[in-house]
Formats: sequence, structure tokens, C-alpha cells
Amino acid sequence: MNYPDVTWSGAVCLGPKICCDGLCPSSAIRVQSHIHIDHLDQFDSSKGFQQILMSKPTLQLLNSERNADLPFRNNLIGLDYGSIYENGGLKVSLFPNGHMLGSVQVLAELEGGRRLGYSGDFQWPIDEIIEVESLVVDATYGSPEMVRRYSQGDCEEQFLRLVGQLLADGTVYIFANRGVLHRAIQLLYDNVNCPLVGNERLIKEIRVFRDFGYPMGEIVSDESNEGKEAIKDRRIIRFYGYGDMKPRDMEGRNVIKLTAYFSRQNNPITEYSSRAFGVALSDHADFEGTLEYIKSTGAKLVITDNTRGGKAYDLANAIVERLGIEARPSSNIRSRNFC
Ligand SMILES: [Zn+2]
Repeated sequence: MNYPDVTWSGAVCLGPKICCDGLCPSSAIRVQSHIHIDHLDQFDSSKGFQQILMSKPTLQLLNSERNADLPFRNNLIGLDYGSIYENGGLKVSLFPNGHMLGSVQVLAELEGGRRLGYSGDFQWPIDEIIEVESLVVDATYGSPEMVRRYSQGDCEEQFLRLVGQLLADGTVYIFANRGVLHRAIQLLYDNVNCPLVGNERLIKEIRVFRDFGYPMGEIVSDESNEGKEAIKDRRIIRFYGYGDMKPRDMEGRNVIKLTAYFSRQNNPITEYSSRAFGVALSDHADFEGTLEYIKSTGAKLVITDNTRGGKAYDLANAIVERLGIEARPSSNIRSRNFC
């Protein structure tokens, strides 16, 4: 393999010893960029034989919700941002990327000094940007039509207005990925006057967010007596993360799905019906932000990650044409010629 690249299973390989967000069996080290499920492929297998590096918040979030043996393993290593982990001439550092609590960019300096990086899922702008020669970049928003014509502040305002309107009609269910879900809870806590209800897993996660400085209020457990009484009421907000068991009976409920994806550039709200909406509350950089990030890393070669989103070709083309930087999709591709 020429480094950097991405394996068929989606592991981002920055060198012979180091892979990220997936399992490359020949790598002694795995970096976990954040806790989203699509980046945790074969994590349990990695636990068996790799050194797994991650930020301290990511380690604490994993401890709070995954296997009971995690806190007792000594091959799971939580690093401070910017600190250097060394292993036989390889140096690894992690820097926040604004996507969610604990999410990181990865900088690997190989024996001989070559600097390779991986963006992870990232927000833009970012305060501290890795400087690298070669970069593997997330291509979720890799297409020119993936540009938002509104700010996330506008999106938050419209989200709160929508929740207020729907609450007048009854209970609101909110579905979202980790990170965005917690952002919604923060927003709603100060802006609505009704019980906020979630499961024990979410309550444990909120404790971790608080430990790392997020001013998040209490929500009511759906297993508590208070929660059970609140659920009988017709005016609550109930939260579901991806991976949580979803409600079976949606009859008469209002539903908002918070999603990184958006269908219209000028409007963050997608109306599926009078009771079901999508809101593009997102912690992903859009297309323009992605190009800005790439330029800021100083990379001379960019590999666009073709594992998810299907935009790796478009993004590689744009990097070549607009930035004049050598770029290609990762080699875990099956068809369609890159031009
Ligand atoms: Zn993510």
C-alpha cells in the first residue's frame, strides 16, 4: 500500500504501523477519531491486539456506554490534545476538529520525518489545524452543491421555532447522532418550558459532556417515576440517539430528525409531513469549508476518503481544479473513473 490510503473495510492508514477508524491487522496502532458508529468498525477486534489512541473525552464517552471492560484495559490510551505519543520512531498527535466532543484530526510523523494527516469528520472553521505533506480528508460534503447558504445560528433559531410550534400540538421526538443531540439539548434546555426526557445512556453521556465543560442541564430518565409520568403527559420533548431503540407508536407524535445532510442550500428545514421534519443542524464542514480546511493544512497530496458519502471523486476533482493540489479518491473504490 502507498501511504496514506484507505482499506476496503474503511480503515484510514497513515503508515505501516498506524490506522484510524477501522482495523488494519498489520498496524500496531489504531486511532479512534470520535465515537460515531460509522467510525467504530471492528473496534472490539482492535481492542484485542492494538494500542488504541483517542482523546480523553472520547475515551470517557466510550467508557460510559460500551463494554464494561473498557476502563480496565491498558491498551486504550486517552491523549491530551497536542501531546505526542511515540512508538518506535512514529509520533502521533491529536487536535480537536469541532465535530463533536472529543473528535480529532490526526497527525502522524513517520520515522524519517514524513508528516501525514487525517481530518476525521470535521467542522469548519477550526482553531488549530494540522500541517501535513499528505492528507486523508473526509468527503461527506465533497460536492459543489453541498454548500449551505445559511449559518448554523440561523439553523438553531429555526429549529427552536419549529420545536415551539410542534410542542403546542403535543410531544416532540428528536432523533439525532451523538454530538448534535447534545447540542440540541443545550439549546432546548434554556428555551422551552416542558420536561426533557431521555434514556440512561444519554444521561450518562451528558455527565461526560459536563465533565469537559459543557453547561448542560438535567434531563429526566425515561426509567424514573418522574419520567414515566412525564411520558404520559402530552407535552414533552423526548430524545433518541442513533442506536437507541426507537418508539414503535408514532401516532399523533411530532418528529424532528437532526441530520448532517440537507436537501436545499437556502433552507435548513425539510418538511416530510405536517408532523415530520428534518433539520440540518450539522457539525460537518460544507463543501467550501472542506476546501478551506485542505488549503490550510498545506498538504501537497490529498486522498479523499471514499468510505462514506459518495463524494470522493467530486471532491478530488475540485481540489485539483480549484486548489491546484494533487488529489485522488482513496483506493477503496469499485467503479467510475476519476477524471
Ligand atoms: Zn461523526
